[in-house]
Amino acid sequence: MPDRSFLDWPFFEERHRVLARDLDSWAAANLGSVDHHNVDASCRQLVARLGADGWLTHSAIDPLAPGPGLDVRSLCLIRETLARHDGLADFAFAMQGLGTGAISLFGSEAQRMRWLPETRAGRAISAFALTEPKSGSDVAAIEMTAAADADGFVLDGEKTWISNGGIADMYTVFARTGEGPGAKGLSAFLVPADAPGLIIAERLETLAPHPLAQLAFQRCRVPKAALIGAPGQGFRIAMSVLDVFRPTVAAAALGFARRALDATLERVKSRDLFGAPMASLQMVQGHVADMALAIDASALLVYRAAWTKDSGVPRVSREAAMAKLFATDHAQDVIDRAVQIHGGDGVRKGSVVEQLYREIRALRIYEGASDVQRLIIARATLGGG
Ligand SMILES: Cc1cc2nc3c(=O)[nH]c(=O)nc-3n(C[C@H](O)[C@H](O)[C@H](O)COP(=O)(O)OP(=O)(O)OC[C@H]3O[C@@H](n4cnc5c(N)ncnc54)[C@H](O)[C@@H]3O)c2cc1C
Repeated sequence: MPDRSFLDWPFFEERHRVLARDLDSWAAANLGSVDHHNVDASCRQLVARLGADGWLTHSAIDPLAPGPGLDVRSLCLIRETLARHDGLADFAFAMQGLGTGAISLFGSEAQRMRWLPETRAGRAISAFALTEPKSGSDVAAIEMTAAADADGFVLDGEKTWISNGGIADMYTVFARTGEGPGAKGLSAFLVPADAPGLIIAERLETLAPHPLAQLAFQRCRVPKAALIGAPGQGFRIAMSVLDVFRPTVAAAALGFARRALDATLERVKSRDLFGAPMASLQMVQGHVADMALAIDASALLVYRAAWTKDSGVPRVSREAAMAKLFATDHAQDVIDRAVQIHGGDGVRKGSVVEQLYREIRALRIYEGASDVQRLIIARATLGGG
């Protein structure tokens, strides 16, 4: 039985505890047999089910009843819970939020009304297109252009590593509009998947399969109304969205780590080694202690970042970076120890810990690699922030 005591921490309100409990029951009943081979079909199904059962209402603001905005603690609890049950379900939920984050935070009423009721119901799939072949960590080096003319904008360039690329109905795309140099000359656009000139150039396969693609924009025309926020605000929009969603990546890592610890506890209690349960070996106990400690420390950082954001602090870059760096790096370590403790069964294809070992790796790279998080923390610390 997973440790649920963290839900009593003061970061949470009763509605969060109810959400975590109800989603855990839903996930146990619905996520037992997700097909990780046909990821396009599985993700479409997962989005539809998460939408039909109401979970995606947390992924974006309600355009009909604008309230306090995205609740980061709910986003984190949902990602942690889904990741503990199934990595693809977590991915399906996460991308509905990340792909529409710019609209939730900066979108016009028309943009919100057009897309959010659909993505929140699981009838439309969204994607976030920031990375390019020559600009990943260095967002300010984006080369894709959006040239303004009388009717709107013409987008030219490439995006790569785009989650949901190939199955999304809409993309939030960042391109250079040239109001200033580097980060000051970027803008954000809402591009429907059927926009002429938007091409799925290549599908990309990874260690843990997810729908991913490289996109080409070839004289892709969008109307003026596709601009999200103001011209030149693109970098700020991207960073504000990442501020909200980086703690949720950390939460997903936490979910994977909890699953690895649960599997380890089962293993060491049920397997005998040298005439006694593995759990009685002190070196095994040392691993279990380090794993439990890493999980609690990660949870504290994740929910500190989420609670701080929900308290109304406009930017939580430092807290989000600490949560992402610590939780993803330590989840990798926790899962590695779980694999080791499972012996040969740990690397058996399809075993729980083997899947977790593949799932966790990319989280230390996307939405800002670990070294980028170190830079953010260092800048805030050196600057006194
Ligand atoms: C599974 C997956 C899903 C993704 N989904 C999306 C998506 O939906 N949308 C999207 O826009 N992008 C997405 N990405 C792209 C992801 O955000 C980038 O891969 C990431 O930002 C790193 O960029 P890069 O791959 O170009 O690596 P690079 O920028 O070349 O960096 C390589 C490595 O260099 C190190 N590094 C970087 N900067 C510094 C520094 N200043 N000092 C020291 N070391 C440094 C880091 O360790 C980094 O891992 C996804 C990537 C993956 C793997």
